[in-house]
Amino acid sequence: MYLVPLYFVPGPFVLYFAMIKFPVPDDSCEYFDKEHETMTREQIETLQVERLRETVQRCMNNPIYKQRLEEAGVTPESINSVADIRRIPFTTKADLRDNYPFGLSCVPLRECVRLHSSSGTTGNPTVILHTQNDLDEWANQVARNLWMVGLRPDDVFQNSSGYGMFTGGLGFQYGAERLGMLTVPAAAGNSLRQIKFMKDFGTTALHAVPSYVTRLYEVMQEQGVDPRRDTKLKVLAIGAEPHSEEQRQRIQNMLGVKAYNSFGMSEMCGPGVGFECKEQNGLHFWEDYYIVEIVDPETLEPVPDGEIGELVLTSIKREAMPLLRYRTRDLTRVLGRTCPCGRNHVRIDRMKGRSDDMMVLRGVNIFPIQIEKILMNFKELASNYLITLTTDQENDNMTVEVELEELFTDDYGRLESLRKEVTRQLKDEILLTPIVKLVPKGTLPVSEGKAVRVVDKRTVYQ
Ligand code: AMP
Ligand code: ZN
Repeated sequence: MYLVPLYFVPGPFVLYFAMIKFPVPDDSCEYFDKEHETMTREQIETLQVERLRETVQRCMNNPIYKQRLEEAGVTPESINSVADIRRIPFTTKADLRDNYPFGLSCVPLRECVRLHSSSGTTGNPTVILHTQNDLDEWANQVARNLWMVGLRPDDVFQNSSGYGMFTGGLGFQYGAERLGMLTVPAAAGNSLRQIKFMKDFGTTALHAVPSYVTRLYEVMQEQGVDPRRDTKLKVLAIGAEPHSEEQRQRIQNMLGVKAYNSFGMSEMCGPGVGFECKEQNGLHFWEDYYIVEIVDPETLEPVPDGEIGELVLTSIKREAMPLLRYRTRDLTRVLGRTCPCGRNHVRIDRMKGRSDDMMVLRGVNIFPIQIEKILMNFKELASNYLITLTTDQENDNMTVEVELEELFTDDYGRLESLRKEVTRQLKDEILLTPIVKLVPKGTLPVSEGKAVRVVDKRTVYQ
């Protein structure tokens, strides 16, 4: 694809020829990878069929996939349209766990150059292998995203995300380098140092989980640092954990810059799978790399665009461990398939949550994000909150603890009426009455990685 010849002449009669993969486009170009980013729907589907065939062929190298595909009567030649993907059986996290660590690999281990392991948001580890090409393509996806929101080689990119097994660190690192920015691999935590780096190195773009960005801002306030005045920040990439639109707005207001939602998961590579463009009207999922389906989690049948269902992804350009129809457990919907930015890659709504994050309390289904969006609308409340579920005399209860903005008030009457109003609005949203506790700022635990929003202490799990 990006193979372009580069000629240069160091001596008068010598012509050297080199092949450069993934060149960085001209600064003025709107797209990092124009050819793929601006494909028409027809072109996307033609490429998807071709790559799905190749992927099925590749999966035949793996005995587990081979047996499943044979049982379903699927061969590469039998795939003639994107809809044919529905003939392929689903893959689940349990498949990865049952075949831990390398059982779903499609290449010999000697062809792999890295693995990432995810404890997942929900338990046992899974392992994902990468060939060098997988890593190159992954970096290309991330570079594409960062370019899309206006970052260029002159920018300074600080990655305040955990490095190591968590893909947010190395994933963004290689992508930002591919784009050609000066990178600051600050990793997560140590907020004072983060702020010093931002000021000293002229950081213009920051990547972190949303809950950490709010923490960073609190430390800035404590230190008398005004991000608008004292930093050169212009873009934030936030993701890796569910967050509400209200939380995003709050982050944008705090730091005075646009915050773009970034979706990724280790099983597909890591960050880079989906990212918002400047329109901020949903995440473009890169359909030259993935086939995106939204299915009803019960019937596993596709749901119409606009309806919420489970996100199912098939990686169609990966070598070491492509996943066929992987059930992500993330709940979302298709918002559209065109965009004023010129990219026709499907636009996916921000995640409503994971089906395994759903709390069932007295028969009512509740997602943490429903609670977050109410809390974030109160300017008297800070950004950190914790939901605790308990059983008291056979009744399940929910307690929502939320930190107060420091400068608000210590007037008991005002606090009590605020607490009542928060309780009322939460009840309207989740249809049952939680116990609301307003606590001083800095009381609730802060995580450097993905925030833990729910603690389930119920004696009988539902
Ligand atoms: P991991 O593989 O450990 O990075 O976890 C991937 C999971 O993180 C996804 O399946 C989602 O549940 C969650 N996640 C990642 N990015 C986002 C995002 N932008 N919004 C909501 N959830 C996200
Ligand atoms: Zn767009």
